[in-house]
Amino acid sequence: MKVTFLGTGTSQGIPVIGSKHPVCLSNDFRDKRLRTSVLIEWDDYSYVIDCGPDFRQQMLRCGCEKIDGILFTHEHSDHVLGLDDIRPFYFKQGDISIYAHKRVIKSLKKRFDYIFETENKYPGAPTVKINKLKNKAFKIGNLTVLPVKGLHFKLDVFGFRLNDFCYTTDINYMPKKEIDKIKGVKTLVVNALRIEPHYSHFNLEEALEFIKKINPERAYLTHISHMLGFHAEVQKQLPENVFLAYDNLKITI
Ligand SMILES: [Zn+2]
Ligand SMILES: [Zn+2]
Repeated sequence: MKVTFLGTGTSQGIPVIGSKHPVCLSNDFRDKRLRTSVLIEWDDYSYVIDCGPDFRQQMLRCGCEKIDGILFTHEHSDHVLGLDDIRPFYFKQGDISIYAHKRVIKSLKKRFDYIFETENKYPGAPTVKINKLKNKAFKIGNLTVLPVKGLHFKLDVFGFRLNDFCYTTDINYMPKKEIDKIKGVKTLVVNALRIEPHYSHFNLEEALEFIKKINPERAYLTHISHMLGFHAEVQKQLPENVFLAYDNLKITI
């Protein structure tokens, strides 16, 4: 299985519009972060987790020619706003499968009412096939996905375990019974926003504590803000099995 980090930035991305913060002015390509999402490919399958406002650019950058579905972690704008840009895939492939909690589907229906329209639908609008997620295993292609629930302040957010790989983002707490579901994964992705604490995201210290509890062979940090610091400098301070993800990083599971 191949995982491509399509974006590793927090909701505003890096650079932040108009910011003169040194990280926003950095020339290191690893300090330029689009909104958080990953592409997961195996056999002939390709799925994305989340579909944020940079989706079009991300699909062009990685040369993705088809997607079999989109798994949504939650309904925040930085994770859903690219949904209209599934059109090229829809025109070629037909209805695109989406997987999301019913609360997230409700939000998508409000934001993208024309996509879900059933009468007199505008012909240029894409159509999606809705798969409602509950906190129990489901299949995509020939793979079983185990959702894992975390908290993002008061909002339930889904992460996803696919065999030895687990992807979580936008959490600042995970109950023990959910943590137990992902123990034993070899590769873990988790969010680390910045150095200072935050009400709805792990900061660096909390993300490292979370990684210790899971104890994977390797972990990648994502959903990073400019307040975390320069990629090169932060990376030097991390444990040897923990890496800052960066845009377009590809890993093999
Ligand atoms: Zn987010
Ligand atoms: Zn969020």
